Amino acid sequence: MNRAWVATWCLVVALAPGACSTDGSHRRPPPLSCTPFCQDRACGEDGCGATCGSCPDGTFCEPFQGQCLSGSGGVLTGSLGLLHRPGRLLPDGGVELDDPRWIGALGATLVVTTADGEVIGGGEVSSRDGDFRVTTARRVRAGDRLVITTWWAPRGTVVLAVLRPPPGEFHESTPLAPWSWVVETEGRENLGDLTISESEGSGALYLFLLARQVQQSVLDSVLSGDALPLVRLGVVWGPGTVFHCGACFASTLGFPMEGGPEMLQSVLIGDDPAMGGPWAWPVLLHEMGHYVAQNYSRDDSPGGSHFLGQKLPPAFAWSEGWASFFGALIASEWAGEPRPYYWDIQGSDSFWIDYENGLVNGTSTVRPPVPAQGQNQELDETWVTHFLWHLRAEQGHAGTSGGLYDDATLLWTFGSKRMKNMDRAGAGTDLVDFLDALACRDREGTGLLTSFAQEEMGFPWDGDPSCPTAVASTPAPGTSQEPTP
Ligand SMILES: [Zn+2]
Repeated sequence: MNRAWVATWCLVVALAPGACSTDGSHRRPPPLSCTPFCQDRACGEDGCGATCGSCPDGTFCEPFQGQCLSGSGGVLTGSLGLLHRPGRLLPDGGVELDDPRWIGALGATLVVTTADGEVIGGGEVSSRDGDFRVTTARRVRAGDRLVITTWWAPRGTVVLAVLRPPPGEFHESTPLAPWSWVVETEGRENLGDLTISESEGSGALYLFLLARQVQQSVLDSVLSGDALPLVRLGVVWGPGTVFHCGACFASTLGFPMEGGPEMLQSVLIGDDPAMGGPWAWPVLLHEMGHYVAQNYSRDDSPGGSHFLGQKLPPAFAWSEGWASFFGALIASEWAGEPRPYYWDIQGSDSFWIDYENGLVNGTSTVRPPVPAQGQNQELDETWVTHFLWHLRAEQGHAGTSGGLYDDATLLWTFGSKRMKNMDRAGAGTDLVDFLDALACRDREGTGLLTSFAQEEMGFPWDGDPSCPTAVASTPAPGTSQEPTP
């Protein structure tokens, strides 16, 4: 199929996690003048980057009509799950998709409507076993429907949707509908056990739940709970739809959402039957790592072709290494257990990486840095991820043993001023800048971080960070440049 617009954003790279490129920052500027539109809207966006109001705690803002749904007249309960295909990592290398397995749809968005489409309730699946309880404005009647959908709108702001491509050709201005599934209530208040199967498009719900975990973590850790700066992201996936890039983050491609706002950026997930499709979660989360880097941190990677085991310039290795680490972090939070992996299936080629043990396909190890070559040396992106995974502290059951910083600290640091505005050592943002940013945040921990980097991981970071405050004060000539507190 001829989809020329895709080619602009994508590079096809065999057997490397980074089968993608990001082409600079083209954030849409806010309109110069704007009239807020809040007539008949109690919550949600005003169209000018602010909100029309917020709903009381415990109530749901329906983002398209801007109504707080606080129903006390009725309730709709049940359990929602989906079938997904886990990847089985083969000990001698390669990955196979397992048979479909049930998981609860924790985080799925639920809306209750009348037969005419009037919204009478909304909420989400709130437990890992899939149980939900949505309050409604009145008792549920025959004709009312439960709509399971794939947009997420914290505080009434749509920040994520999994969009369904139409059959055949489509282009950048084609409105795409979010994936959704409709269940007729037939007047029942308890819908029992609902399961979305593979043939019904459970891949879309799977992608949504993972991507939602990304947006939630960014919201909580990087943006301190303010939903409006989240850059609207459309994840585009549909059975049989393939993209030239396979899977990629497209920073300047945003599809309009049918009946909703325009998404600003896209993650395209191809669905070639010979590939991992929606089930290769490390691919989605790696691309979302690039999304987070570009929008909330800084990414100076030149992009381009690269392959496993290659040593890359520091900014390139950082960009790819971070993206895979971010994926492992989010997957671990989502699953509630450590997921230090990357894997992908590309036709007859498949591979996996274990960042905990530094293994690729069970045999070769990642290529460590050479201490004598200093902190500006070229690095193996897989080693960068391995380093970051070990830097991550144990937290509940989802962490790494022996690390130094929890996920919230790592994510906050990633989006800190030090990361965004300063550059030391190799050209562009790289591992040295991240270590500097950690040290700038926690000066007393610098010694521990230095010994972690040098002694445990063999990376010759000098432990002498440039920090925003140190830049503001000019050291007197001839004095040693001690980091200022
Ligand atoms: Zn990448």
